[in-house]
Amino acid sequence: MSSYVKNFGGHVRAVLTGLKYLVKPNRITVYYPEYYVEPPEGYRGMIKYYPEKCIQCGLCAMICPAGAMKMYVKKGEKKGRPGVNYQRCIFCGFCVDICPQDALEMTKVHDVAFSSLEELVFPPEKLAVEVQSPALLRGAVKVKPVFDEERGLRHE
Ligand code: SF4
Ligand code: SF4
Repeated sequence: MSSYVKNFGGHVRAVLTGLKYLVKPNRITVYYPEYYVEPPEGYRGMIKYYPEKCIQCGLCAMICPAGAMKMYVKKGEKKGRPGVNYQRCIFCGFCVDICPQDALEMTKVHDVAFSSLEELVFPPEKLAVEVQSPALLRGAVKVKPVFDEERGLRHE
């Protein structure tokens, strides 16, 4: 019997909490994709490749700790160019840091959705194409997180 009372009390508390936030919302998240929270400086998102700068040294693929970056060698060529498998990438940024030519860059894009595992494989040609946030492409409003004394966090 006491466990029933305890459970009932828990349910009442849950309903009251729901009602409280219905009257006075304290949400710190934003509606996506209507709003887009801008990632901070230095955020490590999807990688962009600049083939015109690349000297095909292969350092990026060598340093990758996740086996996500590998060199794609075209038929008839001796040196390859880097491509990324996002199934493996841990967004550590080592490949970008080690590149002597600044031929790789970490963008802030992090919200692209894929419908198959194959789509997560980016050979050099695909890696060289500018990736964009689908929310921004749809015209999302950019907001930034701001510290709020009362709520802890808000976006403006
Ligand atoms: S960010 Fe890290 S895990 Fe991803 S491809 Fe570069 S080195 Fe590999
Ligand atoms: S480290 Fe830079 S220059 Fe070397 S292969 Fe990778 S992208 Fe090209």
